[in-house]
Amino acid sequence: MPRPAMDTTPVRRAPEALNAALQELEARQLRRRRVVAAPLPAAATAEQAPPQRVVAGRHVVDFCSNDYLGLATHPALAAAMAECAHMQGAGAGASHLVSGHGPEHEALEQELAAFTGRERALLFSTGYMANLGVAVALAGRDDLILGDRLNHASLIDAAMLARTRHSRRYPHGDADAAREALATHAASAPQAGAVLLTDGVFSMDGDLAPLPQLAAAARAHAAWLVVDDAHGLGVLGAHGRGSVEHFGLDADDVPVLIGTLGKAFGSFGAFVAGSATLIDWLMQRARTYIYTTALPQPVAAATRAALRQVVAEPWRRDALHTLVQRFRERAGAHGLPLMDSPTPIQPVLFGDAATTLAVSARLYAAGFWVGAIRPPTVPAGTARLRITLSAAHREADVDALVAALAEARDAVGTAARH
Ligand SMILES: *Cc1c(COP(=O)(O)O)cnc(C)c1O
Repeated sequence: MPRPAMDTTPVRRAPEALNAALQELEARQLRRRRVVAAPLPAAATAEQAPPQRVVAGRHVVDFCSNDYLGLATHPALAAAMAECAHMQGAGAGASHLVSGHGPEHEALEQELAAFTGRERALLFSTGYMANLGVAVALAGRDDLILGDRLNHASLIDAAMLARTRHSRRYPHGDADAAREALATHAASAPQAGAVLLTDGVFSMDGDLAPLPQLAAAARAHAAWLVVDDAHGLGVLGAHGRGSVEHFGLDADDVPVLIGTLGKAFGSFGAFVAGSATLIDWLMQRARTYIYTTALPQPVAAATRAALRQVVAEPWRRDALHTLVQRFRERAGAHGLPLMDSPTPIQPVLFGDAATTLAVSARLYAAGFWVGAIRPPTVPAGTARLRITLSAAHREADVDALVAALAEARDAVGTAARH
C-alpha cells in the first residue's frame, strides 16, 4: 500500500476547519469576544460613584460583575495585598502539601471555618478546582453522583471527572426527583454511596436551590450534600454566611460547603468547609488541591481583609437587597421580562441571541454594561441579559439602568417589526 503523502494534514488539525467552525458561531451570534476593561477603583473616583469600567477610553457603569458587595476595589483589600507582598513575596513557590502553605493561608482557613461554623476549611485556587477536587475525592466507582440540571459548568465537569459509572441530573430545583434518584440507586446498590451536588444560588437564573428539601433527601439516603454557594456567600443570610444561613440550616444539613472568594469577597480563590475528617480526606484525594501551586499569600491576605468587611459592614448586604427590590419593582412596572430571582443576579429573558445582543449593545451605547448570556451557557432559546447588582450601585444608577433597558427593549422591538 502506498504511504500517504507527507503533506496531507489531517483535516481535524487544519486551521480552515476551526475557522469554519468559528464562522458558524459568528453566523449564529454565538461567537464570544472579550474587551479590555479597566476597573476604576473607588478611591480614584468621586465619593459615592458607582462601579465603573473604562473600555476603549469610555466609562460604563458595570452591571455584570459578581463583585456584589463592592469589595474588589476596596482600599483595605489592596492595602492588605500590597503589605503582604512586600513582606512575603508574590508567589507561594510550591503546592500547599510541599512548602507553599503559608501563615496567611493558615489564618484564612481558620477564619473561614469560624465564619461558616465548621471545624475546618481548605483553600483551593479556584472554585472550579474546588468542585472538581471534591467530586473526585468523594465519589467512588459504584457511587451515584447527582446534580441539578442547571448546575454551574464546574459541577457538571466535576461529575464527569469523577470515575463513577452512575451520574445523573435531575430537573432544576426538583428535590422530589433528587430523592427518587437517591432511593433508586440505594435500592439497586445498597453498598454504594451517593453525592448530591447543587449550586446554592444558580449562577444564571439567580434563584435558590431548595436546600431544606435536598438536605432531608440526602440525610434519608446517607448521601453527601455538596452545596456550591459561589453567589450566596457574603450576600445571603443576616451575617452573610450564604444560602445555608438563609434557610436556617447547619453543618449537619450541608456537610460539604464550597465558597468562592472572587465574587462577593472581591478577591480570588475558593474553599471547602466541613468536618476535620472531610478536610483531611480532601487533602489526601483532591487532585486539584494536591497537584497545583498554592495561591499567592497576598491574595489570601486580601481575602482576610474582605472577610473583615463582610463581618463588620452588614450595611453592604442591606443596601444590596434594597437595590434588588428597587430594580424588580421598577423593571416590573415597565413590563420587562424578569425571572423569579430574589438575589442580585437579575436575568432579563429575551429568548433569542440576536435580540439579547441588540439590547445589550444599546445599553452599552447608553453607558451601561450588562452581560449578554447565550447558549451554551444557558439552554437554547433562553438567551438573556444577566444584570448583577452591587452594594456600590446607587439608587439613581438602578433607575437610570431600568429606563435605558425599557428604551432599548422598545427600540429593538420596533426595529424587528420593520
Ligand atoms: C463562578 C462559579 C464557580 C467558579 O469559581 P471560580 O473561583 O471563579 O473558579 C463555581 N461555581 C459557581 C456556581 C460559580 O458561579
